[in-house]
Amino acid sequence: MKGAVICCNGDVMKKKRLTAAAAILFLCMLMGLLYHKEMETALTTMAYRPLSGITIVLDAGHGGKDNGAMISGVNEQDINLSIIQKLKTLLEGSGASVQLTRDGNYDLADDGVSNRKRDDMKKRVAMINDTTPDIFISVHLNAYPNTSVHGAQVFYQKGNPSSEQLAGILQENLKEATGSKMIEKPGDYYILNESKKPGVLVECGFLSNAEDRAHLQEDAYQQTIAETLFDGILEYFDMMI
Ligand SMILES: [Zn+2]
Repeated sequence: MKGAVICCNGDVMKKKRLTAAAAILFLCMLMGLLYHKEMETALTTMAYRPLSGITIVLDAGHGGKDNGAMISGVNEQDINLSIIQKLKTLLEGSGASVQLTRDGNYDLADDGVSNRKRDDMKKRVAMINDTTPDIFISVHLNAYPNTSVHGAQVFYQKGNPSSEQLAGILQENLKEATGSKMIEKPGDYYILNESKKPGVLVECGFLSNAEDRAHLQEDAYQQTIAETLFDGILEYFDMMI
């Protein structure tokens, strides 16, 4: 009987030791897991800024006395700027350095110049060439006599593979997000022809089309366009690495 008790106590002690060891092991594992999770979260928050080191010039078309397209009281220049500002916020949130050609309702021409439009465009191109960004994005809205024509369209620099690649990605994303049936095309625009860095000109829709015009005035739609361009830019730089 005595022996059995000792034997039993021995078993109990062994069991207690095993339970304690298991508890310590479990605590160690838990702490390790928590530490790992914490580190992972810290690293994710700290490191995932995919556009760190990237410089982007954003150009809101027109400004000042130059409204751009103006249909049924809707100004192109205001919507261009609103989309650009939303895009700027997204890009900076991902670590990009962003320069705007304008951040208000004005153009860049000097007072007293004989051709305001030409001077304004020269200044925008000079800003791009002086900043030497990785890419630039110029945002406009289109207008056309045939009011049934609609949809966002991206134009690239002819003979510039980087510009064409960026345009292709942005166009695909815009098709998906807005239902545009347009395809990207080489564009004969001063800002595309004269800038020495790859860039695209995005016509975000047609103010001459009633449905596009209604959408383009909505803050949520402008945000969708900005987010779509942002996603495309991320995709573009992801492919470049
Ligand atoms: Zn325009």
